[in-house]
Amino acid sequence: MPETILVSACLLGLPTRYDGSAKRNQAVLDWLAREKLIPVPVCPEQLAGLPTPREQTRFSRGDGRAVATGNGEVATFSGQSMNECFLRGAHITLRIARITGCQRALLKERSPSCGVHQIHCNDAMVAGVGVATALLIDAGVSVQSEEDLPVTGG
Ligand code: SF4
Repeated sequence: MPETILVSACLLGLPTRYDGSAKRNQAVLDWLAREKLIPVPVCPEQLAGLPTPREQTRFSRGDGRAVATGNGEVATFSGQSMNECFLRGAHITLRIARITGCQRALLKERSPSCGVHQIHCNDAMVAGVGVATALLIDAGVSVQSEEDLPVTGG
């Protein structure tokens, strides 16, 4: 039976980003085909019920793990806390992983929901994970970003 993998919807070419754009990544599509993986597209921020386009967000304190433990904050650029909303989207994302049997995820680097190694906190790019990423990792899902994929020659 083919293996399913959760994938950030924007990487697959769906226009889910805050500004209504996509971030289609051909290397991701090629890798999925090569590995014979069935992608399950998710956008934690849309799953939270946020509109597209929507106001851009970033962390003002900590990262996704800090938000999940009540010690961080993700906020819009105009200063509105989005913790509750992002946690809702992260929980729904985790539920979808379970329903579809995904034990792996490939998520968009540096997003406040999907970041795997880095996130934006205030004006800096720092080490950390997005809110959905934190919940997935804690639930035992193996998470990587598009930047972790092997570079193929040729
Ligand atoms: S929340 Fe994740 S899937 Fe949605 S647009 Fe941002 S990076 Fe892409």
